[in-house]
Amino acid sequence: MKTAKYFMPLLSLVSLTALAQTPEAATKINQESEFPACITLLSEKAKAAGIAPQVIDTSLGRAKFNARVLELDRQQPEFTTTFADYLNRRVTEQRIEQGRKLLVEHRTLLDKVAQQYGVPVQYLVSFWGLETNYGSFFGKMSVVDSLATLACDARRSEYFTGELIAALRILEEGAIKPERMEGSWAGAMGHVQFMPSAFLRHAVDYDGDKKRDLWNSVPDAMASAANFLQSLGWQTGSRWGREVTLPDGFDYLEAGLNNHKSLADWQKLGVRQANGSALPQVDLKASLLVPAGHQGPAFLVYQNFNVIMGWNRSEYYAIAVGHLADRIISGGKLVQPPPTDAPRLRRDQVIQLQEKLLEAGIDVGEADGIFGPATRRALGELQQQKGMIADGFPGAKVLTLLGVEWKKE
Ligand code: CA
Repeated sequence: MKTAKYFMPLLSLVSLTALAQTPEAATKINQESEFPACITLLSEKAKAAGIAPQVIDTSLGRAKFNARVLELDRQQPEFTTTFADYLNRRVTEQRIEQGRKLLVEHRTLLDKVAQQYGVPVQYLVSFWGLETNYGSFFGKMSVVDSLATLACDARRSEYFTGELIAALRILEEGAIKPERMEGSWAGAMGHVQFMPSAFLRHAVDYDGDKKRDLWNSVPDAMASAANFLQSLGWQTGSRWGREVTLPDGFDYLEAGLNNHKSLADWQKLGVRQANGSALPQVDLKASLLVPAGHQGPAFLVYQNFNVIMGWNRSEYYAIAVGHLADRIISGGKLVQPPPTDAPRLRRDQVIQLQEKLLEAGIDVGEADGIFGPATRRALGELQQQKGMIADGFPGAKVLTLLGVEWKKE
C-alpha cells in the first residue's frame, strides 16, 4: 500500500514523536475498505507484542469495522453541561436507595474488601452506581471491534492500539470469551468500566475462581475497584471532601483545584462546614470548588478527590462520586443545591463569550469554545472590573452585560 492513501493527522508534536518512533501512520485509515489491511497490520503488532496467534485469529482476526464508534468518538456535546444537570441526573433518589440496598446485600464482601484495600464501602458502591448503575448497563459493543476501529482511526490511534493489545492479553489469560467481551463504545468494560490497560494492571480475582472477571463477579469487580483506588493513592481514614459555606464578600479567585491551603487557613478566610460549624482541626490541605458559581454549593476537597479524578478526570464526576457515597451512608442532601436555571451555552456561545473577554483586553488563551479554567479566570477578572461577584461563573447577569446570547431551557 502507498502511504499517500492514508489520512495524515495534523502534525502535533505528539504525533511527530510517534511517527519518529513507530510506523503508526501505516495503521491509520479513513475508510472502511482499508480496515482489513489495517487489521493485518494490527495483528502483526499483536504478534510482535507476544500475543498467541490463535488468540489473535479468534478475536482480532474476526473484528468488524464499527462506524457508530467513530461517530460517538467525534460527537461534541451541543451544550455545556451545568453542574446541576450533571449531578441531578447521576445522584438520584433511586440510585441512592439502590446503593443503600446493595450495601446491605453485599456488606460482608464490601467490609472485607474495604478492610484489605483501605477504601470505605460507600465509595466502592458509589463508583459501581455511577459507572454502570450497579451493573445494569455494561455497554453492548464488542470491545475488540470498538478498539480495532479506533486503533485504525487517525485521531487516537496509538492510545487505542495499546488498549487493543491489552484487550487481547485479557482474552489470552482466559478472563472472558471474545464474543462476551462487551463494553462501552470506547472499550470500557464490566461493572466498574475498566479500560483494558487498567484491567491488566489492577483487576483482581477475589472470588478465587482463578479468573479476573469484571463482568460476572461482583467480588472481583469491587476488589478491582478498591485495588485501583489504592494504587492511585487513596488515603485511608480521609474523606473525599465536604460541602462548606463561604462568608459574604469571599474572594472567589481562591477557588480552583490547584490552590491548596490548610484547613486552618480556609477557616481564617471564613470557610465553615455546611452546617455553619468550624472546620475540623486536622492537618490537611484542601482546595475549594464552586462548580455552579456563588449561588450554588461550595466544596473543600482533599487528596482523595484527586484520586477519584485519577479514575476519571472530571471535577463534576469526582463530586458526584463523593456526594453519592455520602448519601449512601445516610449523609444529607446538599445544604445549598445548585440552581437549576443556570444558562447552558452552546459551543458558539462560549466562543462569543471568549471573544467578548478578549475584546475587553482579558487573556482567555484561545477562543476554543471550551469553558475551561482559563475562561473561568478571565470571566472572574471581568466580573471584578464591573463590581460583580467575581466567581468566574457564566450566570445570566454577566452574559447579559456582555451581550452573549443564551436562552433558558
Ligand atoms: Ca474471579
